[in-house]
Order: sequence, then structure tokens, then C-alpha cells
Amino acid sequence: MDMYKFQSCCSEFWTTTLEPKYNKNFYEYLTSVGLIHLFQKDLVQDVQYELSEFVQQMSNNTEKHDLLVKIFTNKLVVQNFTEYTDNLSKIFNKIKETPLKGSTASYIPQLANVDPNLFGMSFCSIDGQRFSIGDSTCKFSIQSCVKPLLYCLALEEHPEELHRFIGREPSGVKFNSLSLNEQGQPHNPMINAGAIMTCSLIKKEKALYERFDYISRRLQEFSGGIEFGFNNSVYLSEKSTADTNFALAYIMRGAHGFPKGSDINEVLDLYFQCCSMDVTTEMLSTVGATLANKGQSVVAGKQVISNKTSRNCLSLMYSCGMYDYSGVWAFDIGIPAKSGVSGVIYAVIPNIGCISIYSPNIDALGNSIKGIEFFRELVTEFDYHTFN
Ligand code: GLN
Repeated sequence: MDMYKFQSCCSEFWTTTLEPKYNKNFYEYLTSVGLIHLFQKDLVQDVQYELSEFVQQMSNNTEKHDLLVKIFTNKLVVQNFTEYTDNLSKIFNKIKETPLKGSTASYIPQLANVDPNLFGMSFCSIDGQRFSIGDSTCKFSIQSCVKPLLYCLALEEHPEELHRFIGREPSGVKFNSLSLNEQGQPHNPMINAGAIMTCSLIKKEKALYERFDYISRRLQEFSGGIEFGFNNSVYLSEKSTADTNFALAYIMRGAHGFPKGSDINEVLDLYFQCCSMDVTTEMLSTVGATLANKGQSVVAGKQVISNKTSRNCLSLMYSCGMYDYSGVWAFDIGIPAKSGVSGVIYAVIPNIGCISIYSPNIDALGNSIKGIEFFRELVTEFDYHTFN
């Protein structure tokens, strides 16, 4: 570590930009930039002690070094974090007041009986700046939002072969439609047929329990170490109402679509298990921030997937992530996103961060209604559309 540079950044910080704030309370300052969770709270709580002491302790931690330099030189990706989060809150509160439309997903009781008034939102920047509002720690099943992550894992394992099994075009039909492309492949990895296929490719030589463990461990890396839950009753319900997914798997097997040796019952089981993982908006915002950050975890610093895999995933989320609404979404909102029938959407703003939102009532296409309203409002306020 270049201690000289580090120290000079700190002294610059000390003498110019932030001295008054630091003197007041460095803890409050880190909170205001959304980064307090990354530092030991007790270390910075009563910052009556010297900056040099703080710097000394932090400089022993190489992971925090770059981040501290960014903090001290005012180079965090979201610079005026308080103003930014005030704006997010304003939009969130406005959408919260709009009347409920649509209804919860009806195909399983665990989704049908959820309180439709739940509403949560989280943001995580590529520098790890975090903000949440509403029911952001409420757990729900990840459903289709796991599809981009399964795609990433399968692509990392089979970079050359994967797209021999799965297409890259929007399907133009509902997410669980019994339809394949001209080559007899699923249209893309963001719909059911495609995700069932990605499941068939992940660690296909291993036993089912090893495959599930592998996926869980890898997904945890996306969220910077927070473990994904598993909702067994959602899994059992998914499995017992899965005629369409079984039909899709049989059609794909009939078209000789699966890799050799695939057992479709096992593949479907793995798919249902993955859809039944529990998450929160807080977790998903860090997962999406990893994609916004070229595949590197913004919390743990680890390169979870390659930059290329992340780019490919975002391209498909952009063109296919919102079911049969993907075209309008790309046109109007203009950022890669994925939705799930539990009422969740996470949208990735490349090189900035990720916003995830949860509101259980969905429309006829399977997208969260308030989620879409939120992002529509967001892009009127912020220049996030890719082609702005
Ligand atoms: N478990 C659901 C299914 O396989 C996931 C669908 C979704 O979120 N669109 O049908």
C-alpha cells in the first residue's frame, strides 16, 4: 500500500474538505455517505479521537484503503448521498400513496396470501453506499430474479457452449409459454424454459445436493456474504403446481435440447429450489450492484464473475428481463432489470449501482405494478436511461 499517498489524501481531507464535519462526528459523516456499515461502528462512533488514529487503524485493512481514499477525496460514485436518498425517498413515498392495482400472484398460496401493502426499496452503489426505506428487510421468494444469476453461473462454467443450448432473443410471449425458438432452444435465459436449461448446465456431473450447495455458495458471493434463505413451503408448492414447467422440460427433452445425461426431474427440482430462495430488497440491491460493478462484489471486493459474464447478463436483462414488457421497459426506462412474480424488481445502473423494490401486487404479465411505477418516476428525476 502506498502509505505516503494515503496519508497525503487524509491530510488533504483533513485540512480542506471535511474538517468541520469530521470534528463534529465522523460516525455521522460515514452514515451520511451511506458507508457506516463497512466500518466498525465502535471505531468511529465518538470521533473525538484523532483522524490520524483512525487512519492508522484503517490503513492496516487493505480492502478499505481504496475506499477511504475515495471518501477522503470526495470521489464516491454518489457524491451528495443525502440529497440522493432524499430524492429516492420522495419518489418512494409518492408511489406508496398511489392506489393498489392488480393482485398478488395466485398460483401458490404462499404468494397469494402475502400482504399487498408491503413496500420496500433498497439502493446499493458500486462503492457500497447503502440506503433502504420501507419493508426492506421483509423476506420474499426470489422467483425469476434468480434467473440472471443462474445464467451467470452457467456461463462462467460453459462460456463457449452455453448459447448452443439457449438463445438470446426476447421471446415475445409469456414467461412460461410452451414455445421454443426455430432451433428448438429456449428463447433466452430470463424465461422459465431458459432458466430450466441453465439449471441443467450448472455442475451437471455432481449430485443434486452438491449442485444446490454450489449455487447457494456462489449466490452468497453476489450479496457480499449474506446467505440466501430457503423457503421449503414455497418449494413444495412450486413443485406441486408445476405442470407447465414439466411440460416445458418435456418439450425441450423431445427436441433433444438438454445436455447429455440430464435427468429432467432433477433439473426441475433444482429450478424450483432456486426460485424458492428467500431474499430481501437489501440483499438484492447488493447482488445487482455486483453486476453494476463489472462482476466484482461491492461489499467484499471479490470478483464473483468475469466482467464479460456480467456484461452478457446485463445485455439479456436489458432485452429480456421484464417478461413480455421488456421492449417497453427498454424503451421507456432504459436500464437492465429483472422482475419476479413475488413482486420484486431489481434494476442495474451500470457503473453506479442497483435499486431493488418489492411490492407484491403484479400485473397480467407478472411484473410488480408499483415497482414499474417507481422506476417510471425515477427516470424522470435521474438521467439513468442508457441512451440519455
Ligand atoms: N416459480 C415461478 C415459475 O417457475 C417463477 C416465475 C416468475 O417469477 N416469473 O413459474
